[in-house]
Amino acid sequence: MWVLPESVLKAINIIEKSGHKVYVVGGCVRDHLMGRTINDYDMTTSASTEELKELFKEYTLILAGEKHGTITPVIDGEPFEITTFRTDGEYSDGRHPEEVKFVTSFKEDAARRDFTMNSIGYNPAEGYVDHYGGVEDIKNGVIRCVGDAEKRFDEDALRIMRAVRFSSQLGYTLDEGTKKAAFVKADNLKKISGERVFEELKKTVMGKNCEEVLNEYMGILASVIPELSEMIGYDQQNYHHNLTLSAHTAKVVAGLPEDEVLRLAGLFHDIAKPACATVDENGVKHFKGHPAKGAEMAKAILTDLRCDNKTLEDVYTLIKEHDSDIPAEEKSVRRKLAKLGERLFFMLMDIKIADNLAQAPGFLRVDKFENIKDIAREIIKRGDCLSLKKLNIDGKDILSMGYSPSRKIGDCLERLLEKVIDGDIPNDREILLREAEEYMKTNQEA
Ligand code: ATP
Ligand code: MG
Repeated sequence: MWVLPESVLKAINIIEKSGHKVYVVGGCVRDHLMGRTINDYDMTTSASTEELKELFKEYTLILAGEKHGTITPVIDGEPFEITTFRTDGEYSDGRHPEEVKFVTSFKEDAARRDFTMNSIGYNPAEGYVDHYGGVEDIKNGVIRCVGDAEKRFDEDALRIMRAVRFSSQLGYTLDEGTKKAAFVKADNLKKISGERVFEELKKTVMGKNCEEVLNEYMGILASVIPELSEMIGYDQQNYHHNLTLSAHTAKVVAGLPEDEVLRLAGLFHDIAKPACATVDENGVKHFKGHPAKGAEMAKAILTDLRCDNKTLEDVYTLIKEHDSDIPAEEKSVRRKLAKLGERLFFMLMDIKIADNLAQAPGFLRVDKFENIKDIAREIIKRGDCLSLKKLNIDGKDILSMGYSPSRKIGDCLERLLEKVIDGDIPNDREILLREAEEYMKTNQEA
């Protein structure tokens, strides 16, 4: 028995009293059967949208989905999407159904759903209504299309990405036929908008099973992100690495904390390696310049995917910096902290550690990175000056020495900050004033 929340039962009662059928359906049934947290309770019903509007007229109604058969009453403060039984009608472009067609049975409605695990309905009177073997597939950890997989992926290619992302989130495997069809139809994904692909990609890299899934399905992702295809099975021919570039990448992603920025940076951190590779006289490959080029490539990819600017900039910086050497000493750590800020500094350390753990066992340097993090924490705790804000002198001080406003004042402050960060002078007002005087005098305007 599944005890549904009061507000859901309220909606079910209202609809059933009118003589109509209603089921909770989709993600909530799936997640309940899997023992996962349920996000939202969607319902499907034989009642038409007109009837639903009448039945729920005492509630606040959101009508944004009405055209597609969805009415959303707000019950006890929570919105519930209730959709009239429907099919998707004809697809002409592999993206949007031409029109929705309303149908009379739940069985027909369930048939339009992507995977068997997402096609199960439930209501308290009938229990689980499972027309396509979803319960069994959940038991076996299998993702299977409802009906003919190739046809379903022709109708809507996003389902291919959804299959991959569910596999990553749930640790389930794709049924053989579904998997084969996913590869056969992967090129259809080119028709899907960047933002929809990106939503699925983010969930894919965040999934608990992402390492296996990236190893298995990098080829599918490569149909929307062609730059990934070069990495698949790529032999790095370098003693630091015992994994192919794609396997290394998958391991880095999985080794990172569950954070979208970090995981995206992990996915793309070495994307420029094939393009930057040179082979020396001993047959060893080197990848000079791959961080900077990789950052540019990731920027272009993420722009195509309509990624937000903040994520894009963070990923860019992390990739650009991922291979930079940071000696485990105060001066270097302060410099890097000043350059990146605390948040990105520690994210960079996460990347460096995950990257290192995915290299050949003889080259582990995690201790060094932990040591660097300790040094950074100490610097932060002490409150060392890392920015102009904390410098014990500012532009006004220089103006009151009798200099008129100019860029040189800014340059002077930057120079003094550098010296303080490097530990060449203390952040002491008297000393800074003297140094400023010196700088302004000697560095005459050109
Ligand atoms: P989650 O909410 O965890 O992302 P979900 O399965 O609930 O997963 P939704 O996008 O909320 O995903 O969709 C709700 C239901 O609608 C799904 O369970 C499925 O039955 C159906 N569905 C969603 N997208 C598609 C699609 N592209 N093709 C066919 N059916 C779909
Ligand atoms: Mg959902």
